[in-house]
Amino acid sequence: MRWQDEYPVLDDQPTSALLRRSTLYNLEPIGLGTGARESLTSYAERLADAHCISPRMLADVPAAGQIARVKFNRGAALRARWFVTGASTSLEWAQILGRLTGRLGLEALTLAPLAAVINDRNLTSRRRRWCPQCLREAATSHALYTQLLWDIDCVTACPFHDITLSAECSCKLTRDPRRRVKWSPGHCSCCGQLLCETLPTREAHLRQVRLARVVQALLADPRFDQGGWNASNDHSGTFLKSAAIRHFQGKSAQLARALGLSKSALHGWMKGNHRPALALLVGVADRTGCSVADILDGRADDTHLPGGRIVRPRRKTSLRVMRAQRETMTQQLASILCDPVPVALLHVARQLEVNCDYLRDRYPEQSAAIVSRFKAYQTGRIAAKKAAFSAALRTRAEQLVAQDVWPTSQRLLSGLEPPDRYAKLHAEVKYVLAETRRRMESARSTGLLHRTTGLHQIALEP
Ligand SMILES: [Zn+2]
Ligand SMILES: [Zn+2]
Repeated sequence: MRWQDEYPVLDDQPTSALLRRSTLYNLEPIGLGTGARESLTSYAERLADAHCISPRMLADVPAAGQIARVKFNRGAALRARWFVTGASTSLEWAQILGRLTGRLGLEALTLAPLAAVINDRNLTSRRRRWCPQCLREAATSHALYTQLLWDIDCVTACPFHDITLSAECSCKLTRDPRRRVKWSPGHCSCCGQLLCETLPTREAHLRQVRLARVVQALLADPRFDQGGWNASNDHSGTFLKSAAIRHFQGKSAQLARALGLSKSALHGWMKGNHRPALALLVGVADRTGCSVADILDGRADDTHLPGGRIVRPRRKTSLRVMRAQRETMTQQLASILCDPVPVALLHVARQLEVNCDYLRDRYPEQSAAIVSRFKAYQTGRIAAKKAAFSAALRTRAEQLVAQDVWPTSQRLLSGLEPPDRYAKLHAEVKYVLAETRRRMESARSTGLLHRTTGLHQIALEP
């Protein structure tokens, strides 16, 4: 027990929480959790500004390391398009800046949360753009910063002020290497003036604003700050199937036409074979009246029939077909339909020196008949090949049993020619292998294995 007049010992001092030491200031990013979030480029610029240095010198601190210094290339990295795309390089810079500042989660200032579910081709704009009104408000309320939204290529307007984003300062000066203007956020890199004072203000089209609002809602989604979406929770394929069922009686070809996509592109997207561009996701969300998060979550309950302008109109080549050729085309199509060997519509179009769109538009019934015949023919061919392979596999299994050779997948498949889509038959091969082994084991254990007779009756039916 300690008396009141005694001095406190060291352990009695109240513990004070100290922030971890960091090389650069622990600057807080602006606008996290909102659609007006700061970009990583802007964060780096503000960080340099807070230390009263040029962003060119940011990687010159010893803790950044030699490799980072070389890659930063005196600020050239900051001006590159990929700095905020969310690919491996922008993740690397988010980690380097996070290490230098002690600030975690700087990936949320890039498009990394979406990287697993979208295609990063043409994702970010070639030139930096700004909204003068947003810059003006930022200058009066807090520090000048630039938004991640402005770096996204498909965003051309400000969703808050309904004006277009501008890339050109009214000074219209070209960069002069002899004139070194201070590089600071929200200032023109040519004349050094505040961009909010020099950028023109132009009213945006309603559609531009709508698309910008869709992207802004996506950036404001709470999941954007919680690591984002990964490939396993991307249910956009489910969304497309549900939308096709809801609006087109399950006909995906009609959905593809309504969205301005080719059937193969839609099919690839549904199957998850390729990732869509953000512009496409935003366009689909806008045309069906939902959000991009709804598409990624596979929720198509609140969508409406795709309306308005097509996202990416499919180009149809106009054909000039001579009258004489047109007159004989019906007969030629009829003879093709009578031919015992069905052919694909593309093959027919090449044979008649037209294209598939022309045939579908002018001869819809014949085209549909050609397609269905060829599809049935192909299905039959594949089934026959599969049956032949399956029979050969079982015969080979019988041979191994008769020779008392322990079956392995290599022995089972030796001498057989697997079909092209072997992966689909893999389960059957495994089943035959397991069944053969089981029967051989039981025959060996009971001592009833005969090399020549008795085992040919082994039923290996699945
Ligand atoms: Zn604005
Ligand atoms: Zn300027």
